[in-house]
Amino acid sequence: MIDVNKLKNGDRRTLAKAITLIESTKESDQIKAGILLESLVQSQNHKSFRLGITGSPGVGKSTFIENFGQYLISKNHKVAVLAIDPSSPTSGGSILGDKTRMEKLAVNDNAFIRPSPASGALGGVAQKTRESILLCESAGYDFILVETVGVGQSEYEVANMVDFFMLLILPTGGDELQGIKKGILEIADSIVINKADGDHLKAAKQTQAQYQSALQISAQSHFWKTQVLLNSSIENKGFEDLYKILLSFKDVAEKNLHWNQKRQEQNVSWFDSLLKEIILRKINSNQKNYSKLKELNQEIIQNKKTPLKAAMEMMELLNFDKIKND
Ligand code: GDP
Repeated sequence: MIDVNKLKNGDRRTLAKAITLIESTKESDQIKAGILLESLVQSQNHKSFRLGITGSPGVGKSTFIENFGQYLISKNHKVAVLAIDPSSPTSGGSILGDKTRMEKLAVNDNAFIRPSPASGALGGVAQKTRESILLCESAGYDFILVETVGVGQSEYEVANMVDFFMLLILPTGGDELQGIKKGILEIADSIVINKADGDHLKAAKQTQAQYQSALQISAQSHFWKTQVLLNSSIENKGFEDLYKILLSFKDVAEKNLHWNQKRQEQNVSWFDSLLKEIILRKINSNQKNYSKLKELNQEIIQNKKTPLKAAMEMMELLNFDKIKND
């Protein structure tokens, strides 16, 4: 059993146990996890800051989190680090969010680091991370860093669960925009050119100018202009500017009513994807339903049934009300 009071008092062991519970694939654990999350929903910390961080391997994410995390703690924050690692093996464990990558932060009393959950649980890795965010916030962590690498859909998944999404890139100084997906530039609230130190500084400044001009022609939100910043984690340079930008984003977003609205929209889309997954599980876990699904697939391929008719038949089999036309 998870002691909710201990969790709310910030006990790290209890928090770790609670996350293990929500990640469990056992049905009995899932029921307990559901009750736990429900009991915390009212005490959610709306004052927290959920910061998404993405970037290719080697760009300096763990060094950045290790040092920026400590900077945030020096500003009286409590920092939780979660990760979504699309390459995470089902056996658990992963390269992202690993404590050994952030040694100093890991031993700090005001930090909590959790590796990426194993895939396979209901809702998948991203959903578990969303639930972990709620648990960390209930335990008093007010800066939640969610890290991912730029593989597959993981960046979009992270962007859809955080308040502010940040892309770390390397200083190339060249003419090319580093093959970064255009969609990522559009969802980034900030682009941080990392390793802006020593021999890389000149190239970093060129890269900054290049991105600033590229962003002038891209779609921007009505209240926030994507900021392009320089950072050096090893020289601890850039943290002050970044921190100011995060606070000013929060301020502007709250004034525009965007802050809460974005979280509400994220919750609705979370609900939506969970619902779809639960229905698909209901189909796949039952032989009769599964055979019917395959049969309907075939009938659609052979033009014997329209997708709408097939979907209605499937719903009927699952005992849902028939879709009415009126
Ligand atoms: P990750 O794979 O994105 O987590 O990257 P790491 O944090 O492991 O960093 C990759 C390499 O870049 C390591 O050798 C770091 O020491 C180095 N590195 C990280 N941040 C900086 C920085 O700000 N400046 C410089 N010059 N090197 C850095």
